[in-house]
Amino acid sequence: MMNPTHIGVGLVVAAPTLILAPEFVVPAAIGGMAGGVLPDLDLFVGRHRRTLHFPEAYWLAAIPLLALAAIRPTALTVAVAVAVVSMAVHSGMDWFGAGDELEPWERTSSEAVYLHLRGRWLQPKYWVRYDGAAEDLAITVVCSLAGLLFPAPIPTIAAINVAVAVLYALVRKRVPAVVDGQL
Ligand SMILES: [Zn+2]
Repeated sequence: MMNPTHIGVGLVVAAPTLILAPEFVVPAAIGGMAGGVLPDLDLFVGRHRRTLHFPEAYWLAAIPLLALAAIRPTALTVAVAVAVVSMAVHSGMDWFGAGDELEPWERTSSEAVYLHLRGRWLQPKYWVRYDGAAEDLAITVVCSLAGLLFPAPIPTIAAINVAVAVLYALVRKRVPAVVDGQL
């Protein structure tokens, strides 16, 4: 799934704080969005869908961090707990998309996301056919609506997120040619 989808889902992950910790909703939203972005930084360092993607291990970290945030709620503990949950959700969600390849609609990759504790790759499920597909954009739009529940500047960031997602979805199939230097 494309990064704006993970950012939108990060807002959904942060949404319970609107009821549970209303004084920390902005740090929670920022944590949720940052946690949505962070795993995909392994596009640039290490092995994508593996180096910073931990579909199981992030949960092991998230549980004590959530407990800490519940006992000692501060902007930092809430933001970090929401961020790590968002990273766990991101890593798990990648299983339901395509494999790690430049043209995911070709379905030649069997590597969706790496299970570190088992030492093997999860096979892509293709519920979302490829990053930037129409269903991927639909998830971004629906989840980003959660941003409207938060105070400024979160609704603006959510709107920018949707705009980026629309642009990405429009150009996605041209990306391989750009990477190959044909355009
Ligand atoms: Zn990812």
